[in-house]
Amino acid sequence: MSEKLSFVNPTANSPWGTYLSQVDRVVPYLGPLARWVETLKRPKRALIVDVPIEMDDGTIAHFEGYRVQHNMSRGPGKGGVRFHPDVTLEEVMALSAWMTIKTAAVNLPYGGAKGGIRVDPKKLSLQELEKVTRRYTSEIGIIIGPHTDIPAPDVNTNAQIMAWMMDTYSMNVGGTATGVVTGKPLHLGGSLGRVKATGRGVFVTGREAARRLGMDLRGARIAVQGFGNVGSVAAELFAEAGAKIVAVQDHTGTIVNTNGLDLSKLIPIANKEGVVAFKAGGDIVPNEDFWNVACDILIPAALEGQITAERAQKTTAKLVLEGANGPTVPTADDILAERGVLVVPDVICNAGGVTVSYFEWVQDFSSFFWDEDEINVRLDRIMMNALNQIWDTADKHKITLRTATYAVACERILMARQERGLYP
Ligand code: NAD
Repeated sequence: MSEKLSFVNPTANSPWGTYLSQVDRVVPYLGPLARWVETLKRPKRALIVDVPIEMDDGTIAHFEGYRVQHNMSRGPGKGGVRFHPDVTLEEVMALSAWMTIKTAAVNLPYGGAKGGIRVDPKKLSLQELEKVTRRYTSEIGIIIGPHTDIPAPDVNTNAQIMAWMMDTYSMNVGGTATGVVTGKPLHLGGSLGRVKATGRGVFVTGREAARRLGMDLRGARIAVQGFGNVGSVAAELFAEAGAKIVAVQDHTGTIVNTNGLDLSKLIPIANKEGVVAFKAGGDIVPNEDFWNVACDILIPAALEGQITAERAQKTTAKLVLEGANGPTVPTADDILAERGVLVVPDVICNAGGVTVSYFEWVQDFSSFFWDEDEINVRLDRIMMNALNQIWDTADKHKITLRTATYAVACERILMARQERGLYP
């Protein structure tokens, strides 16, 4: 169990501490709404659950799970579920808070939530994975629902896991509640375009940022950390636009090719064995060298806290696209700003996933499904509108895109809080 349970005392350099300092930075731009800012500094509700299952060998294992609903002022909670051996309550709190900011930044009618189980799914059989998923879903079933809190995939969770979650919730309520989770398989109320949505959003915001910087994507050198759903899709779209993917790092290691890695060969291998198995396609280098690779664009798309102050000093990138949630610690953020490196922050850069999740939820309720072109046109429009508004705010106050995103989002959330009033 997480050792620090306090909502207000973060562990040093933790994701929750990072989030709190991001909120502190926005206070000067909130005007009279600043009186409500404490609302954002603590989750509305945090549930810790025990997930006991019988393992294939007959032993009983217990895993710890969480669901945190950070804020629901603007609508139901929304946010993924992460299966990872390092998951803590404090991490889930931060991830849920970033969802609150993100859904408001792109103006979706949601609040923010997140869930997780401290488990290494790679060590579970398929049956054990299903049991963990179903028991966890049943335990958090008291607070999730199509109108209250809607989970989705995150690190190490996928459409199959969402199908089990939807089925378990549906069994418990006695019906078929497709709208309780998003990121489902297509024939179970999933949406076209959802799998690629987050990577696509990273590409759309990155392309616009590059245009504004006067950077030609043709020949631009890109380093990508994390080559899963987000990183590999973003890399593919940038490569299609003429960029060269010169370095990729995942949990197996780092591979570099200054002429550009051949993604059509790398992706199938990376999906199965990890990028280091692609030996013939580039040089395998020590992980820390990833941060020195000469590049124009850096895409952190793995876990939080990856861009430290030291790595921010080293990078040669002029543009950082935060595919992951919380990849840059606050001290590194300051260094990047001082060095003139533009950061498109997570809360807008990776909002494509939750945007298409929203489309999926809307389609589930209306039982009318859109084609992929319609999804992508609407996604691009929402992302571009949000980014342009954030850019205008950044220009107006001469602040970073991150602080501007927080300013736009926090104003919407706190205005809703104020208009709803404080109960009782
Ligand atoms: P994923 O499980 O598909 O992929 C994660 C990738 O990170 C894998 O390539 C893995 O090997 C790599 N990785 C794990 N630990 C690493 C380490 N220590 N060093 C380097 N690489 C490591 O997950 P994903 O869905 O692509 O999510 C990646 C990030 O994007 C997370 O921060 C997640 O919260 C965020 N995100 C995901 C979505 C989504 O729709 N999937 C939406 C918004 C944000």
